[in-house]
Amino acid sequence: MVASPYDPEVHYARKQSTIWIGYKVHLTETCDEGGPHLITHVETTPAPVVDRDALNTIHDGLKAKGLLPDTHLADAGYVAADQLVASRKKGVTLLGPAPKDYQWQARSGEGFTVQDFLLDWEREVATCPAGHQSKSWGPDYHQGRTASKVRFSTTDCRPCPLKPQCTRSGRRLLTLRPREEHETLEAARQREEQLAFSKEYRQRAGIEGTISAGVRALHLRRSRYIGLAKTHLQHVLTAAAMNLIRLGASFAGTPLARTRQSAFTRLMMAPIPA
Ligand code: SF4
Repeated sequence: MVASPYDPEVHYARKQSTIWIGYKVHLTETCDEGGPHLITHVETTPAPVVDRDALNTIHDGLKAKGLLPDTHLADAGYVAADQLVASRKKGVTLLGPAPKDYQWQARSGEGFTVQDFLLDWEREVATCPAGHQSKSWGPDYHQGRTASKVRFSTTDCRPCPLKPQCTRSGRRLLTLRPREEHETLEAARQREEQLAFSKEYRQRAGIEGTISAGVRALHLRRSRYIGLAKTHLQHVLTAAAMNLIRLGASFAGTPLARTRQSAFTRLMMAPIPA
């Protein structure tokens, strides 16, 4: 809906506890060691556009400039099964926290999740932890996307001694993404458990400093103009200014700032005198 009589392109949006009317800006920057972190792309969207829906456009923009990275570190809002697959097809490893399995079986830590089932994608048969095979495997339209519904038989499930760990209804039902997305998401979830993931992902922290500097020093959250196109121009000019500041600091030999620690944290980390 129109949220302002002055700018028909601004819209209402909510992200957790933050509510605003306007636009959203996505910044991409380099984080290679040994050089200044430079902003390589600025994407401005209407505020309600979810982060992951901006990713394709961001990658297309980076590709057009010859700046598509091998690895793109992104926060959880950009990481979805379809985006992991789409990025890989463009030669980009999308690295970020993968969507969690929020079904009760996964949350309880004791239930059978989809990983506990043996999936035969060619024959379209799933085998459950009790050794029973699925009764049907058919296409389904789930949350606006094509998926597969795999159903087990009530004859097997009702008397099954493992049922309390498996399903609270008469029989177990699995909803599967397309195979490529399913396998990519599972691989991303496993990758996240490895130490190398957190080590590599730590490099993303710099972008939070960039956003903070943009907001506090250059008023990135205040649109000086009316309309998406002009607001995007403001965002691009702000990013260009930040790059110039960073290049100046780099040429002057100023090292990258480290993450600030509060006085209390410094006190906690200080060695205890003998
Ligand atoms: S409840 Fe059904 S699907 Fe689950 S383990 Fe038992 S037989 Fe298999």
